[in-house]
Amino acid sequence: MIPVSAISLDSKSPLKADHWQQQMANSLKTASELLNYLVIDEQSLPYVVDHNQPFNTRVTRHLADLIDAQDPYDPILLQLLPTQHENQQREGFSLDPLMEQSYNVLPGLVHKYKNRALLIVHQACAIHCRYCFRRHFNYQDNGLNGQQRADIIDYLQQHPEINEIIFSGGDPLSLSDKKLQQLIEQLSEVRHLKNLRIHTRTPVALPNRITDEFMQLLADCRFNTTLVTHINHPNELAVELTEKLSLLKNSGVTLLNQSVLLKNINDNAQTLCELSEKLFDAGVLPYYLHTPDDVEGTQHFYVEREAAIKIWQQMQAQLSGFLLPRLVKEIPQKQSKTWIIENP
Ligand SMILES: *Cc1c(COP(=O)(O)O)cnc(C)c1O
Ligand code: SF4
Repeated sequence: MIPVSAISLDSKSPLKADHWQQQMANSLKTASELLNYLVIDEQSLPYVVDHNQPFNTRVTRHLADLIDAQDPYDPILLQLLPTQHENQQREGFSLDPLMEQSYNVLPGLVHKYKNRALLIVHQACAIHCRYCFRRHFNYQDNGLNGQQRADIIDYLQQHPEINEIIFSGGDPLSLSDKKLQQLIEQLSEVRHLKNLRIHTRTPVALPNRITDEFMQLLADCRFNTTLVTHINHPNELAVELTEKLSLLKNSGVTLLNQSVLLKNINDNAQTLCELSEKLFDAGVLPYYLHTPDDVEGTQHFYVEREAAIKIWQQMQAQLSGFLLPRLVKEIPQKQSKTWIIENP
């Protein structure tokens, strides 16, 4: 993760306070800032805050405002506040469990599955999630300069089996609209690319990142566009966010959501059913429910396989089929995500 100050601003003139880039710059950047903002007395918490985590705190004020400061187990707070739990060790947990580094065919490009390639568009995120499986990923190797972009285009030209390009990160929506547009224009030249997919959690942190310009550039590009939001809990679906998602949907973008199953945050069928229903109200279909990866520092969020299956089966008994996300795990070397229940 790179400091927020490294995020490029398009305009030299000062940005308005309600501009997303300004709001990103104004985010809360330490655990103390977050606790002070919420007026939470650290000593009163039933767990120990860790002020020295190398993966630093970052929370937008929009998201902080969705936290119930009276509840030390608030599901948004627990995703963002670093605690001593991150120092636990667990056998089998490692820094790069997905062995992603080995599929890094070029700096910034991960080609693991046959027809789709993942582009690390931007290293920074609007928020830092404590469960993040990319927290140890070597982002410094994945900055995209002009030469690297040209090399990526070359690689894509030479791989006609790739028909979908996936924007990932970090978070691709950390990039300005102008730079996103340039990137999309460059990719448009690769004729066999049909589909553009953007994976992002930024709208959760900054709903107004969904700017008119962003919607326009998706509408204008030649790709079949999909936006996959990363929303884990119904509390993250603020009114401002659902409004923006509805606009996106009406402009013709396919909207999907993926969640991570997280202990003490959303590891019960009731919360996840409510999430599915709320997503659908906003025009979004649930896509994946990921079981957590075995990443060091995230052990306290881990949900065991049997518990995950039980939750999923309870969801299945309550939801319309199309509101049931696929329960998956990422297993290195596999040709796709692995469905945990293949034949329920
Ligand atoms: C998850 C992932 C994809 C996308 O997989 P889908 O099953 O199509 O959502 C692509 N590339 C990489 C490296 C991934 O981890
Ligand atoms: S937004 Fe995604 S990539 Fe960024 S810290 Fe959160 S989980 Fe990790």
